[in-house]
Formats: sequence, C-alpha cells, structure tokens
Amino acid sequence: MMERLQSPHSQPLEQCLQATESTRSGLSETEAARRLDIHGPNQLPQASPVSPVRRFLSQFNHILIHVLLVAALVTAVLSHWVDTGVIVAIVLVNAIIGYVQEGKAEAALSAIRSLLAPRANVIRDGHRLNIDAATLVMGDIVILEAGDRVPADLRLIEVRDMRVDEAILTGESVPVDKSLSQATEHSALGERVCMLFSGTMIATGIARGVVVATGRDTEIGKISGLLQSVETLATPLVRQMNIFARWLTVFILLVAAGLLVFGFVVGHLPFSDLFMVVVGLSVAAIPEGLPAVLTITLAVGVQAMAGRNAIIRRLPAIETIGSVSVVCTDKTGTLTRNEMAVTRVVLSDTVLHVDGEGYSPTGAIFDSHEQKIAPNSLLINMAWTASLCNDAELRNTEQGWQVEGDPMEGALLAFAAKVLTEGSASRSRWERLDVVPFDPVHRYMAVLCRSSTGKRATFVKGAPEAVFAMCHHQKNSNDDEVSVDEAYWLEAIEALAAGGHRVIALAANFESSNQEDLQEHHLHGKLTLLGLVGLMDPPRQEVIAALAECQSAGISVKMITGDHAATARAIAEQIGLPNWQHVLTGADLDRLDAADFSEEVARVDVFARTSPAHKLKLVGALQSRGLIVAMTGDGVNDAPALKRADIGVAMGLKGSEAAKESAELVLADDNFASIVAAIREGRTVYDNIKKVISWTLPTNAGEALTIIAALLAGLALPITAVQILWINLITAGTLGIALAFEPAEVGTMRRPPRARDAPLLTAELIWHIVLVSTLFLVAVFAVYTYAVDKGYSIELARTMSMNTLVVLEIFHLFFIRNIHSTSLSLVAVRGTPVVWGCVLVVVAAQFAITYVPTLQWVFGTQPVSLADGMIIVAVGILFFMLVEAEKQMRLAFSRSE
Ligand code: ADP
Ligand code: MG
Repeated sequence: MMERLQSPHSQPLEQCLQATESTRSGLSETEAARRLDIHGPNQLPQASPVSPVRRFLSQFNHILIHVLLVAALVTAVLSHWVDTGVIVAIVLVNAIIGYVQEGKAEAALSAIRSLLAPRANVIRDGHRLNIDAATLVMGDIVILEAGDRVPADLRLIEVRDMRVDEAILTGESVPVDKSLSQATEHSALGERVCMLFSGTMIATGIARGVVVATGRDTEIGKISGLLQSVETLATPLVRQMNIFARWLTVFILLVAAGLLVFGFVVGHLPFSDLFMVVVGLSVAAIPEGLPAVLTITLAVGVQAMAGRNAIIRRLPAIETIGSVSVVCTDKTGTLTRNEMAVTRVVLSDTVLHVDGEGYSPTGAIFDSHEQKIAPNSLLINMAWTASLCNDAELRNTEQGWQVEGDPMEGALLAFAAKVLTEGSASRSRWERLDVVPFDPVHRYMAVLCRSSTGKRATFVKGAPEAVFAMCHHQKNSNDDEVSVDEAYWLEAIEALAAGGHRVIALAANFESSNQEDLQEHHLHGKLTLLGLVGLMDPPRQEVIAALAECQSAGISVKMITGDHAATARAIAEQIGLPNWQHVLTGADLDRLDAADFSEEVARVDVFARTSPAHKLKLVGALQSRGLIVAMTGDGVNDAPALKRADIGVAMGLKGSEAAKESAELVLADDNFASIVAAIREGRTVYDNIKKVISWTLPTNAGEALTIIAALLAGLALPITAVQILWINLITAGTLGIALAFEPAEVGTMRRPPRARDAPLLTAELIWHIVLVSTLFLVAVFAVYTYAVDKGYSIELARTMSMNTLVVLEIFHLFFIRNIHSTSLSLVAVRGTPVVWGCVLVVVAAQFAITYVPTLQWVFGTQPVSLADGMIIVAVGILFFMLVEAEKQMRLAFSRSE
C-alpha cells in the first residue's frame, strides 16, 4: 500500500499519479472504498465534547442554585431537616431536567450541522460523481470550480484562471494564482502554485487535481488538528434575556435581604421562619427556568425549520427571519423545478419541436407540420455543440435518467442524443483542449476541441445577446454562411421567451487553426451562429401557494434572474407574482440614478438579465428603505449580496460552498416554498419566545407578590416556602416547556412582519405582567381568606392557596397559547398533545401532593374536599374569563384603529 506522499509539490505530476496509484480517469469505486477503510475518513478529528460529568456540574453554576444551596445549609444548621431534604431534592431534580434538555438541544444542533457536511465532485470509474467530502481518498480525481472549498490537499492536473484564497493557511489575504508549474522542495506553502490545500477557498477558475493527502495529513490538519469549535445556542435575544434574568436575580436578592431585615427588626419574626420565607420569595420571583426554556424554544424552532428543508447556519438568524419583509429570489430552480427539457429548436428558416420524457436521450424531432424529420447537417452541428460545450453527464439510474451537473446542460445532452443517434459515446470522439467556463456576468461557455483526425473546432453556447455579439455569420440549412439576420432571430427569441422558454444560442468555429488554448480574442467576430434552442423549466406548483402566503403576510417577493426579460415575465405570470408585467433589466438598472433606483426597486418585482453585482445593489436599496431583506444566491459572485442581506439564503443542491458559507439559511431542496416555510417557523419561534416570557414573568411576579403582601401585612403566609419551591419546579419544568413546542397560531402568516427594532418587553407585555400578577395575588388571597373564614386549619388553607396558584397557571397557559387571537375557538381548546401532556403531569402532581400521605407530611398539606376543589377550579375559570375579555377588548380596539 502506498505511503504518505512526500513533497508532492516538487514532483512531476505523473509521479504523483503513480505514487497515489491513480490515473486521470480516477479510481474505481471498489478501490476508493478499500482505501477509505484503510486510511479512514477525510475529516479532522472533532474537538472532544464536554464530558457528561462536567455538563451535569455546570447545571449548578447558577446564582439561584447557589442561593438554594446556602438555604439548604442554613436549614440544616437550624435542624429543619425536612426543608433541607426538599431543597436538596429540588436542586437535584432541577439539574437533571436541565441536563437532559440541554442535551436534547445540543443533539438537535449537531444533527443540523451534519446536514451541512461538505461535498465534492470526483471522477470515479471514469464518471463524474458528487460525493460526501469525508469519503475522499488519496488518488481521487477532484473537479473544482469557483466558490468551492478545497476538500483535501490536491496536486493540480488541469487548471484555468484559478485564484485561491489561502488566508486560512498562510494569512495572505490576496488570492494566489495557481498553475501547473512544479515548485522546489523547500518552497513555502504560498509558493506551491501547483497545489490546492484543503480548507482554502477557490475565488475564480476551474481545475482538476489528484488527492495527495486527506484528513489529518493535510496541511490544515497539521496546523489546527481540530475542527473549529462548535457554536452554542445563543442568539441576541437569549443573551439579552440572560442579562435581564441576571439583573432581575440581583434585584430580587436585594429585595429579599431587605425583607429579611424588615421582618426581623420591625416585625420581630423568628429568624428561622423568616429565612425560609425569604428563600421562598427568591425562588418564586427569579425566573430560573427562563433561559433554559428559551434555548429549548430555539432548538425546537431550528429543528422545525430543518424539517421544512430550511437549515439555519447562524443561530441569531432564527430571530431575524420572522421579521423578513421582502424576499428576493432566483428564478431557475427556486421558483421553477430546474427540470429542464429542450422543446424547441430554431434554425435560420424554421422552428422545430422536440419531444421526449425528462432527461431520457430518446425522442424525436418534428417540423412545424408535426412531421418527424431526419436531422440535416446544421442540426447535427447544433447537437455537437450542445454536447461538447457541456460539463454535465447523464446517467440511467433506477429512478430513470438523471443529471450529474447543471440540469440545463443535462437537457442539452438529452437533446443532442436525440439528434446524434449513436448515443452519448460520440462525445469522446472530440478531445477538449481548453474551456472558457460559464460565468453569470458574461453568460456564455466556450470549448476548444480536437477531433480524432486532428481537426480543431470551437463550440459556444450562451445567452443569445452574448453569443450574437461574437458571431460574424450565420449558417443556413443549406450549409451557406450568410451575415446574421438580427431581426429574424430577435423575433424568434421574443416568441420563445414569451412562452416561458429559456433561450440558448449555439455557435461554432470549425476553422480554429492550431491554437492550443482559448481566449476571448479567439471568439470575437470569429463564430458562426448555428441556431437557438428553447428549454422549458416548469414552475414549481407549491410556489403559487407560497406566494399567496407571502402576500397575506405582508412580505413582498422580487424575482431576480440572469434570464431573458420575456422569459422572466412569462414565469412570473405563471406563478402568480402580482406585479409581473413590469420587468427591469440589469441594463435598465444601470441607467438609473440613485434616487430613481430606490423608487424603481420598490415598485418593480421582476428583474431580468441581472448580474450578481446588481443583487448587491438591490439589497442595499431595499434595506435603505427600511425593509428586512432575504436574498437567495448560489454562485461565488453572490456571496457579497448574501452577506449584505439580513437573511442570506443559499441553495443546498446547486449552491457553491462560498454562497453557503455567506448565508444564514441553506435550502436543502432549493425551493422557494421552503423560504416561506422558514419565515413562518421564524415567526412562530419569535411568538413562542414571547409566549414563554409572557407566561413566566407574571407567574413569578404573582407568586412573589403574594409572599411580599403577606409579609408586609403581617399575615401568615398563604403558601409556605417549600410549597413555592414545589410549584416552581413542577410548573417551570412542564408548563413553560409546553410553550416551546407550540405550533404556529392560525393567523401567523396573516400579520404584517414585525418591525426590525420591535422591543420584546413592550408596554403591552408589561401591562400584562401587572394585570396577571395582580389577579394571581387577589385570587390566592381570596381563596385563603375563604378557607380561614370557614374555620379550616392553616395547613388546609395553604393547600388550597397552592392549588389555586397552579390552576391559575394552567388557565394562564391556555390564554397565552393564543395571545394574538381568541382562546375560545374549538382548535384553541383542543390544544396539542404536548400541552395536554404537560397539564396532565401537573394535575397528577397536584393530586399527589394534596392526597398522598408521605407528601402531605413533607409539604405540610391536607386533603381538599371536592366542593372546595370545585371552588378552586371556578376561580381559575373566572380568571381566564377576565383576562380573555381584556384581550378581546384590546384586539377589537387595535382592529378598529
Ligand atoms: P438564472 O437567474 O436563470 O439562474 P443565470 O445567471 O444562471 O440565470 O444565467 C443567465 C443566462 O446565462 C441564462 O439565461 C442563459 O442564457 C445563460 N446560461 C446559463 N447557464 C449557462 C451555461 N451553463 N452555459 C452557457 N450559458 C448559460
Ligand atoms: Mg443559474
């Protein structure tokens, strides 16, 4: 078995291929699998995760827990053993719950990360294949293009116009030019121009290389040894809430200390009782569960989005995405299915129809009278051009014919095969000498080929404007070459595009002399136009509903495409984009001054023949109008626009690594509908965060108010400290979590987007906290007073107060679930399995603490009679009706505004 390759940069290429026991047509699948077995995956070792013990201990690293542990110590010193036991038990249970939930959130995140694992294009068994980059082995032939991240250390075999950003290895921020020239043995990394290094980013150009080192043996592996550290679940909102919770804790501890002094000095209460009260107060008031529940809410949101094919790359985006007010989207593959087929061919004198299924290379060509025709030499030349100026491959799989590479090129291959009946093997009769790869600014691709007889020819395909500009003649069906009849072709293009066809012009130069390479000056004025092909790419059906959803959600949608204006307009109409008639082209945009640009960009929804630079300008203009912009992209040139957008959306299937790394969101299916689904989930997450806060804060405030009021009024406590501890554990551990799993409210996508700077703690929320905590206070004291008046023991009165508090919390939960609409609909009452599950747990726990003798002994409770139980529930219902009526009043008021 071969050894690790020494200094591949200073050896001739052939020697590298030999040493890696490889050839230019790649390894076989079986050989690759064998090598993978021996050398292991092409991965850097993962940073070892925090050990479970450390993770568990970190649960105790919270100021409230410290307060509780001190309290346990004090109660132990005072020999209040039952209290000590309860506190310790509650601290432990809390830590276990936190540990488990944090683990779940982490697992959810790492599952998401694995969805973004890098991929690589390789040649195996002579065919192009897209594989998981971790399965690359030494000797694999890798195909690379602009925007790719180099997946392993490679020795170049072929290279064109390649510049690579090697900053992560060398610190040099200017991209370096690559070529085939061999370097000296002791040259610096930056001087090894014939090598590509794992982890570097390709800025421009195309290349092929043979893998000479993988995983830990790569240059980057030698330096860092470890994968970059993992991201934790922290978003601005969560961080803000953590800071808020910390200050709230400090504030409450100060209040508690004040009360301790007040009760001892002014009230002359015994210290040990007072101390437990103050501990109870702290526990009641501090929203200890809040940060954890928020984290879980986010994790649930991230998972829900992944379930809808939208993968969040940067967590803070999950907050922003719900507030998106304009989505700028590509056309091809995002709004359309990217399942292309050539259906029309325009020659100098006629329009032909092409039939067939999908990418299958079988089908016939018909003339305008629907008569099958035999291809003439012009059509055959077009077919050669379509198949040679092409990087895709068609494969016959169990699911039918599939494309490896660009679907449009796949369609051109299928078309060529229908004309050149020998089949796709015919491509190998021409050897490619050089290529000008497609780029979205110039919009064409050209190849220089040599036939088996030594004849050279250039083949070009691209957007008609781009190709026409290079043609000096056109070929007629009778093989005559005449000057280009612009009017005829323009009419043909308009007609095809108006029908929703993507139009590609094909041209060639059969008189390419002995040139070895292909430059722009070899093309200009030297090409002969052969004809046009029209490709159909049907719109995605689900996009129509998604667009309607955007409209009702106050989100505008803009189509930004490199395609022809008429094609863009036709597709816009088919998918029901409201303002489809108005189309601006990139050239139109360039003519506008800044003020007009901003106006037009807001007014128009379809932009055609744009280049990536336009996308960047569009994002800026929309943002300066105060809009929150989501922008899609796939190529390396789209990266700046994706970075600039509030939410950059990259295509998971056809997108380059550069685009993905600049994006906040990656679409697993490249589908526009997934963006809309992500926005809906984003809004839901934000709502749920708000709900968790709206539910937790009044609950805590209500509990704390009850204790403070009793203490200040010199009354006996309506609920004891350990009972407060119990309530907090049971409710925070269950009811609060239920809100993290809330599905979207019915009207979620019927509201306009939230403003960018909308605060979380709105006046409305503060009012809600005041109202609900006051109602809690009144209700608990009412029940307590009722019990005392009836002559019940203080234990029973407390048991009833505690149960009242829990019943109120349950009703409050149902209220909060539909904070934006009514809670009185059938759907609202039916709830969800999660909600009812949590409610059941809580109810069972309350029955246990009220009726199980051991628990009665520990918590000082007494059994409540059925009639009194009914009263407690009635109080809950009354509370619910009150807050619901108040909400309806507010909603009615805001609607009438
Ligand atoms: P879109 O927004 O539809 O993805 P692109 O920027 O990819 O647009 O393409 C713009 C134009 O460039 C297309 O309308 C087509 O005419 C031409 N084009 C696209 N892909 C290729 C290719 N692989 N080779 C040659 N021309 C292409
Ligand atoms: Mg494209």
